Amino acid sequence: MPLQPNGGKLLMPVETEADVCALFEKALALSQTSGFLTRDRYRADIEDHFYYIGAICPQHFRPLQQEVVNLSGEQLTFFHFSFSTWLYLLHDAPDSCAEQLLQRLLRADQDCSPSILEAMLAAIGTPTALAAMAEYAERTHKQNVFRDLGFWLPGKGKRAEPRFTRHRSAVRFQPIDTTLPLQELVKRPHPVGLPVSFIAGEPASSMITWHYLTLDLARIDGLPPTSFSRIHLVSPPQHSGWTLFCTISQQNLYTQAHLHVSEDQDLEMLEQLQEQAIEHQNDGRGELLLLPYDDQLVYRNGHTQLTKGVHGDVGGPPLGLDENPCCPICKKLMFHVCTVATTLREYGDGFRSLFFCEGCMQIASQAMGWN
Ligand SMILES: [Zn+2]
Repeated sequence: MPLQPNGGKLLMPVETEADVCALFEKALALSQTSGFLTRDRYRADIEDHFYYIGAICPQHFRPLQQEVVNLSGEQLTFFHFSFSTWLYLLHDAPDSCAEQLLQRLLRADQDCSPSILEAMLAAIGTPTALAAMAEYAERTHKQNVFRDLGFWLPGKGKRAEPRFTRHRSAVRFQPIDTTLPLQELVKRPHPVGLPVSFIAGEPASSMITWHYLTLDLARIDGLPPTSFSRIHLVSPPQHSGWTLFCTISQQNLYTQAHLHVSEDQDLEMLEQLQEQAIEHQNDGRGELLLLPYDDQLVYRNGHTQLTKGVHGDVGGPPLGLDENPCCPICKKLMFHVCTVATTLREYGDGFRSLFFCEGCMQIASQAMGWN
């Protein structure tokens, strides 16, 4: 069963528009009646249902878009979904929804936590919604809220700009035959576990100890055009809480690297990671398969990582656990390409994300601890 609600209290069909409508009514009823102890578990189950609907059949939610925007603050607290759930439910909602959300956000006596309404507004993605985000952010100085969700606000009345693609795929690791020569592995579209010398030259290579993955950008939908075609998620000998900015050449090689560290690092740990990189350099090699968000995946707790071999996503919004990086050259928010867990190829702990600036040949690998 692809849908496995995490709270374990509720499992309803979502195959038709009528099913989704019945689920919505059930959620409204639960928001009123469920007891304190069971409320969170019901809430988790309801979100998992809607996360699944967003992936498989978002069209069944369309008739409810206007209704959900009009819910009271109390009801919306029960629908406190993550941004990545709203994103696929409210996509392309009518302009009246964006206008209504903007009015609610600007009203002084708002009855609802602004973070819920902000995520809903950002999820719509139409020109009207992107203009409403800019207006709201400028009036309230809340540009950071949208930057954490993956939107760039150029300012001066210009619309918000999404810096991620809605087209998402789950990333499945496929081990390779250990006799496959590295020269063959590097030709695969999305190799995992390449030697650093394959993806970086001096002086960048001296900063990099680990290769998680390489992505062939031509095989990912919805990216801005770039003059490089493959980018690499890599690590310095640091545990988590860092961003490594690399300049990439047109031959897809990292040439310069600059490390920004946001958490204090333990020196002993750094040495350990240097040694680990040498000792395990031949481990965990393979390639990635990009799987569509369909009924072959497991949907639970707002992600698909309980699917066998799946470690994260290509596409979709950034996690926002750490500040999303801005380009060190033009200062624009960088474009999010993928986020995976370190279980993909064990090195350090937590999530690793990959971003680029298409205009400045800059790539950022970012490391966050488990949230
Ligand atoms: Zn730039």
